[in-house]
Amino acid sequence: MGIELDKGLLARAQELLASAQKIVIHTHMAPDGDAMGSALALYHFVIDRFAKKSESANVVGPQSEPVARQLHVIVPNTFPAFFNWMPGAQDILIYEKDSKLCDQLISDADLFLCTDFNDAKRIGPIGEKMLLNPAPKILFDHHLNPTDFADVLFSFPEASSSCEIVYDFLKSIAYQVQNTEIATCIYTGLMTDTGNFQYNSSRCDLYEIIADLIRAGVKKDEIYDSVFNQYSIDRVRLTGYALYRKMRIYPEHHLALITLSADELDQYHYQVGDTEGLVNMPLQISDVYYSVFMREERPKPGTPKPRIRISFRSQGDRPVNIWASEVFHGGGHANASGGELFASLQQAVQLFEKTYKQYVK
Ligand code: 5GP
Ligand code: MN
Repeated sequence: MGIELDKGLLARAQELLASAQKIVIHTHMAPDGDAMGSALALYHFVIDRFAKKSESANVVGPQSEPVARQLHVIVPNTFPAFFNWMPGAQDILIYEKDSKLCDQLISDADLFLCTDFNDAKRIGPIGEKMLLNPAPKILFDHHLNPTDFADVLFSFPEASSSCEIVYDFLKSIAYQVQNTEIATCIYTGLMTDTGNFQYNSSRCDLYEIIADLIRAGVKKDEIYDSVFNQYSIDRVRLTGYALYRKMRIYPEHHLALITLSADELDQYHYQVGDTEGLVNMPLQISDVYYSVFMREERPKPGTPKPRIRISFRSQGDRPVNIWASEVFHGGGHANASGGELFASLQQAVQLFEKTYKQYVK
């Protein structure tokens, strides 16, 4: 049952894992629950299967081999505080904050485990550094059309999440997920990438996996609570403001647009992750099938223009990824895509208004 992984690739991955001494695990920018979960599940798996954790964080010493193995999880930028509780989150290195150390680890690595991205560009400067290192790369991912940077590729766009692929990988190499930490990380990705099983979650396999994870000790209601019920007052008020004051509906096209400027975000003391899920909310309105959310980030030093980060969501047979890729330098899944524009918020809205009729039904 479940997704079938190629036997040759599984054997190759196992060989690489068994012989690697300096492993870097990494995932995409603005890490979400699936990125965090898949990276941390692999982190705990490597510790559990191949090495015993030593005193110092992030460094693991093997049980039988004389050379110390190194294992690090690196993410490009800060992850939302509502993932701080995840097992292993405290060990994660954030490239943006610790780039010198991360550069060193990336150039020394003899194996990369990559999760939840299909293109080295999706991991920012880590990607450039990783490509300079010829060490083998194993990729676990569920986005369409991965570029060919990985030596061993486990790519299944039909999977609910990269966590599901990591689970299938572990199962396929006869590793029973009995470790509660691994199970918890995997469950988090399944839950967040399906919007708590609202979408991309109709295959029976997924519920067999969940049963297995619960047997391994996952407390599913606690995980839900940790991710979705720990918001700040500011976050909830920002959501209210965005829906009440900033949502425009284009009824003839079943489309909604929400924009938030950097000033507005400041008023509500915006923290990373505070607008996560906001783009899905207009889809609760009957007859709204497309939703777009634009968030302005102030220009970084040396860049003249603000960055507008854009999220697209849709329901049913109404793809948004073509719009995201052709107009907003992004892409993604048919019903969940993203992109960006270096322009003013007003210019981004103008571009949206100029193009939406072409891309929505
Ligand atoms: P979000 O709106 O949550 O940031 O992104 C939704 C999905 O769109 C992500 O899971 C990812 O698959 C995709 N995505 C977001 N931004 C980009 C981008 O810049 N390029 C590509 N190719 N995909 C993106
Ligand atoms: Mn994902």
